[in-house]
Amino acid sequence: MAFAQARPVAAGAAAGAGGSAKAMDWAEHGGAYPEWYYSPLAQITQANVHDLGPAWSFEFDTSRGQESTPIVTGGVMYVTTAWSRVFALDARTGHKLWSYDPRVPGAAAYKACCDVVNRGPAVRGGWVFVSTIDGRLIALDAKNGKPLWTAVTADSRRMSTITGAPRLTRDLVVIGNAGGEMGVRGYVSAYHIETGKLAWRFYTVPGRSTVRPDGAASDRALAEVARPTWFGAQTRAGGGGVVWNAMTYDPALDRIYLGTGNPYPWNRKFRSAGRGDNLFASSIVALDARTGRYIWHYQETPGDSWDFDACADIILADRQIDGRTRKVLMQASKNGFFYVLDRESGKLLSAKPFVSEVTWAKGVDLATGRPITASEAFYSKAPFAGKPGPHGAHNWAPTAYSPATGLVYIPASENSLRFVSSASYQFVEGVDDLGIEKGAAASPHAQNAGAADVLVAWDPVAERAAWRIPTRGDSGVLATAGGLVFQGNHRKGVAGELVAYAADTGRTLWRYKTPNAILAGSISYSLDGEQYVAVVGGAGGSDVVVAGGDEALEPGPGRVFVFKLGGKATLPADPPPAPPANPPAQTWPKAVVARGAATYGRLCSRCHGPDARSLNIIPDLRRSSVLGDAQGWKAVVIGGALQDAGMIGWGRFITPGDAESIRAFVAGQARALASRNR
Ligand code: CA
Repeated sequence: MAFAQARPVAAGAAAGAGGSAKAMDWAEHGGAYPEWYYSPLAQITQANVHDLGPAWSFEFDTSRGQESTPIVTGGVMYVTTAWSRVFALDARTGHKLWSYDPRVPGAAAYKACCDVVNRGPAVRGGWVFVSTIDGRLIALDAKNGKPLWTAVTADSRRMSTITGAPRLTRDLVVIGNAGGEMGVRGYVSAYHIETGKLAWRFYTVPGRSTVRPDGAASDRALAEVARPTWFGAQTRAGGGGVVWNAMTYDPALDRIYLGTGNPYPWNRKFRSAGRGDNLFASSIVALDARTGRYIWHYQETPGDSWDFDACADIILADRQIDGRTRKVLMQASKNGFFYVLDRESGKLLSAKPFVSEVTWAKGVDLATGRPITASEAFYSKAPFAGKPGPHGAHNWAPTAYSPATGLVYIPASENSLRFVSSASYQFVEGVDDLGIEKGAAASPHAQNAGAADVLVAWDPVAERAAWRIPTRGDSGVLATAGGLVFQGNHRKGVAGELVAYAADTGRTLWRYKTPNAILAGSISYSLDGEQYVAVVGGAGGSDVVVAGGDEALEPGPGRVFVFKLGGKATLPADPPPAPPANPPAQTWPKAVVARGAATYGRLCSRCHGPDARSLNIIPDLRRSSVLGDAQGWKAVVIGGALQDAGMIGWGRFITPGDAESIRAFVAGQARALASRNR
């Protein structure tokens, strides 16, 4: 492909190189450019980054997972946290100006695949927008945090949740939903910024509405383009295709690009009679931002059977191709390929793997735009060794694009899963039956435990990595005009570091210990001539397991960490070790333990970790104080005693006997942990 380098912006030419930094906000999701996660600030450089230290930190009132990137504008930092809470902080000092709690019911937490995270607010003028885990979109007064309007955007009777950051178009605020592993049907809704009135809604998959149209902007595209690609209508529940993360607004074309999630259930055999592309799941879909009208789609993973959500951030850029400027979009997808599309037409320009091994497809045919999918990859006759696994070669954590180097920095992960088809499948509202054998050993969220994380600097011109380095965690990335790439990591279970790498070589230039592991992406802004780098700390999310499995700390509160040159503040200490394993003396027959293991794998592992091994943000049950108390255990597991913390009573799914068998299984795991630690 003749894909010439765009005019690079030299790092030294950026405002404030090494000296005073002119005032600059981080006013939009992804920064000043469309989801680049790039700061043109260059006061902090490769030469002086060693002098970077904490300016301030701020402690949240929750220890649950943190995936938020803040917005900074007018000297105020607006940041969301777990349970969809919002804080407004003085961006110079961290002094709290106001906070808002949407009072999400604790019981909503069990619907979330990956904890009660939130990936950030949207801010414009006097409005701050936040999505909530229980399906609301709320507009707040930026001055005081008072709610101005609320839209109920997801159906609270279903397994819908919202964790994504809202995005803004010219005059609308757009939000999707999550729940693709729970059979939720995906859609995106656009509301008028000032009133909260619904402007349009676009459903991404036909779902069960095979007879009656929805009366939505998507009706025609679903009828003409998507519906003919689905088969076996009775088994598909809501259909998936949820837009839980990526939506990028394109001001030049007044379009919005959606990244859609996997079709539901994962196994196509049970979803679509073993055939069909299943549009618009696992696709990028371009819509008219004003009306929600369908313009084009590109499906990255036709017939997706591996949880290859196309939900990673979508980066917009103008590139020189064959001697003319072309408007492109770029995405490092979960399925392992780095895509470059012409965003005017949707035509595929480049698709190359950015991780070392991709087994589900041999490549992507540029002429047809389709992957060359291996037929055995659908695991219809035999298990399939899938690479990447469902965690994805790149998940939700922000990528960064630097116009100075021309590189896209990808927080990538080399992982795998052995896909085994279930013998049968039944849709049960509230259970993530995906049509594959899961069990304790093969939990869909377990495969990241032994994975190798890697930071990849991808050259979209040469279609190869300029450099790649091993990392601890696949956390979000920020690039700056100072020639730096910032990424957080997991240093020790729930504690971590923020690290600065040289953008051109990947050399480590600076690292700073933080009492929280860092999953989220960093941002940068400047005030009063000083450049700041800020990041939200807090483990959790889909990373429920510590690498190695046994090391755990008490969960500390989530925090914002802010750094500047010469910063002399001190950060809190690491949290203390988690309590030891607490196995009861009681033992159970092997058959009971085995039954408990199966039930645990089916219902409990997605939050509490495979084999009851957990990072301990959501409690590690092997250390639980009620593990030795049959009545206490039943009061929690069946009776819902801890419902407000997100642990619902499971009485409508299992019997008290099942709960006791889960206790038998966890007790065995606790004994094993205690003997290893002796
Ligand atoms: Ca998914």
